[in-house]
Parts: sequence; C-alpha cells; structure tokens
Amino acid sequence: MDARAINARLRKGEPPTAEELAWFARGLASGAVTDAQAGAFAMGVCLRGLSEEGRIALTLAMRDSGDVLAWGLDAPVIDKHSTGGVGDCVSLILAPALAACGTYVPMISGRGLGHTGGTLDKMEAIPGLVAQIPEDKLRAVVGEVGCAIAGATGRIAPADKRLYAIRDVTGTVESIDLITASILSKKLAAGLGALVLDVKCGSGAFMKSPDDAQALARSLVSAANGAGCATSALVTDMDQPLCGSLGNAVEVALCMEVMAGDAKAAPRLRDVTVALGARLLALTGEDEAAAAARLTEAIASGTAMERFARMVAAMGGPPDMAEDWRTHLPRAALIGDIVAPHDGIVTGWDGEALGLAVVGLGGGRRVETDKVDPAVGLTDVVPVGTRVRRGDPVATVHARDDAGAEQAATAVLAALRLGEGAPTERPLILERIDG
Ligand code: URA
Repeated sequence: MDARAINARLRKGEPPTAEELAWFARGLASGAVTDAQAGAFAMGVCLRGLSEEGRIALTLAMRDSGDVLAWGLDAPVIDKHSTGGVGDCVSLILAPALAACGTYVPMISGRGLGHTGGTLDKMEAIPGLVAQIPEDKLRAVVGEVGCAIAGATGRIAPADKRLYAIRDVTGTVESIDLITASILSKKLAAGLGALVLDVKCGSGAFMKSPDDAQALARSLVSAANGAGCATSALVTDMDQPLCGSLGNAVEVALCMEVMAGDAKAAPRLRDVTVALGARLLALTGEDEAAAAARLTEAIASGTAMERFARMVAAMGGPPDMAEDWRTHLPRAALIGDIVAPHDGIVTGWDGEALGLAVVGLGGGRRVETDKVDPAVGLTDVVPVGTRVRRGDPVATVHARDDAGAEQAATAVLAALRLGEGAPTERPLILERIDG
C-alpha cells in the first residue's frame, strides 16, 4: 500500500478501504507515513469526509495502532468522556460513584485544551498525586479501588498522538470525522464494555450551536457502537459554567463538598453527573431510574468520597484526603470578590471568556509548555437567574497577585450579562442520543 494512492482516493471523493486506513494508522505510529502525507490525509478527510464505515474503520485503525487493554474483571469496565467545558468536574465525582456502585472505571483523561479545563490538571492539584502512571499501576489501582483517573501512556493510540499534532498545525482540527476517530481511539483502547459521552453545547463549549453538538454526538455514538462498544450520548448545556468553581484546586474542593454530602453544593454538576452515570449503567443492563438512585445515594452517603480518597492515596496523594482536603489543597495568595457594576438579573455568562479568564490567571496553558498554577481560579460564580444589586459579589477571584486579580476581574465582568428581564431557561440535558 502507498500513502499517495490513499490520498489520491480521498482527493477524488472515494473513501479509503478499512485495510488502507489500518495501514495508514500503522504508518502514522511507526513513522512510515511522513508529516506531509499525514497533513494531506487530514485535509482530504476535512474536505471530502468519510462515510460512516470509513469513520468506524479509522477509529478502529487508530485504536489498534497501540496497546488495547483487556481486563478480565468480575464486573463491567465502563467510562465517560466529555467534549470539554468550563466548571466541568463531573469525572472527579462520577468515577468514584460508579466504582462505589460496583463497576470498574479506568478513566484515561486529558489536560486543559483552549479555554476548557482538563481532568488531569485537576487531579494534579492534589499534592503528591502522580496522574501519569504506567499501565501496571493503572491496572492495580482500578483492580483495588474500582477507579483510576490517569493520563494516557505513550502506548495508547500513538497514531492519534501524531495525527492530532499534525492537525493542530495544518488547520484540520475541525473535522467531525477526525474528531470522532481521535476521541474514540483513545477511549476504546482502554478496553471498555460501555461508554457515555457528554457532548457539551453552548458558550463554554467547543460546539456552540445545538446543531453542531448534535452532529458530533451522532457521529461519536454511531462510530463507537459500530466499533463494538455500547455507547450513548447526552448533549448537555454549557451556556453557563456547570458549577460555581472554575480552576484546578477550587474544582477539586467543590467536588469534595459534593461528595461529603453537602446537598446544596453544585446542583447542576450533581444532576449531570447522575444523569450520565445512570445512562452508562443502563448500557450495562441496569434499570436507569434505579441506577440514578444508587448513584445519588453513593454521592450523598460518602461511599463515593471513600473511593475517591482511596484512589488519591493509591496514586501518591495524601492518605487522609476525605477528612482533610481543605488543608491539603493549595490556596492562592490573593482571594477577593468581583462585584456587580449595577443592579440587575444575571441573564447569561460567556463561558469561553470565563474559561479564558482562568487561563489568564495561570490556571491553564497558552502554550503546551506552560506550567499550570493549581491554586488560582474563580469560585462562587453566581448562576444565571440570580438577582444582584450593585456591589454584590458575582464571583470570587483566586489569584497569585494584584495584577492577575485585576485582569481576571475585568475579564469576568466582560463575560457577565446583567439585564432586567428573566433569562430564557435552557434545560440541563438538551438531548439524548442512543446507538
Ligand atoms: N479531543 C480529542 O481527543 N481529539 C480531537 O480531535 C478533539 C478533541
């Protein structure tokens, strides 16, 4: 086979065969396919698209370009993937809650991307915790605790690692075919029996419109099911942050409050977590309403917290995280309120701008080599619908210094929509898509 012939077929609008895509993915992993050939391939897929079969074939080919884990455990091995948002710390609660419900969750996660936070950066806000662990350690933690939230080893989907970097510099990231194969190749390499996808939609998401979010969700669900993994998606609202804390340590702290049984903490975060978990357990054969009740109980009763604390300890974090998270989590040097400039009702937030304010504080990366500050961020971001008076706090900033705090305050106030009329209510779960 030959990369030129495969690219020529793409150029003419003839989808490559499964064998050709498997050859191409192996070539990406081994280096036999050059950067130029990979760039042309990515552009060909962007312009001409793949058929549904082609998308499944590319997903499988990229999955099989590296290690595919096999578990042989006594209960379902399952996971969730989010397309990314702001204040989206569902994984930190859902993985231990699912473990407390008797399933196994090898949650291979990523770092912050653009304005969105990354689960690995949040885990690494816990002092001593090592999120980049080898496969044998991942297996040991999942086997003993029921869940592990960890980074991908270099041996998971190496074809995607290379193609993603090339897409990034060739203007070919925005292809639903390529995004689908990229996300699923890594998730399916974890050897899952079932997967639920949280496709975020709105100002804080990559997919801003319901049509785009629905198209991505449909593509992901059909390719994952076609690749043999029982999968559903929920399209969920990201027109405001999912919770009032945005940043690394501050999101961990809020999740600890939720898992300590604080019924008032972060209701939207809890509701999305339970809905995603219940859908996932339903894919393994459980009754969905009963699964939702079990997950709610695991979160309220402290059993999810107990799993989270055991996972943290097994990954090098403090042994007493469940009791003493407040003393363990880093705190920013400067904490202060950002106040409303006039009376009104909070009618909306520009989620992307809020995420970028956190990046500006040092809580995310502008370039890959930036070091993330775990302590900075925003808390107490008031939900849409809140009536405020001039001078009332609309958020609290956690910054390294005055200059950072001032810059963040300006960005937060620019992201705030303060009006008079009642805001249009958007449901939290916009759509469910099954295979
Ligand atoms: N996340 C991925 O892993 N891949 C993409 O292409 C986009 C988001």
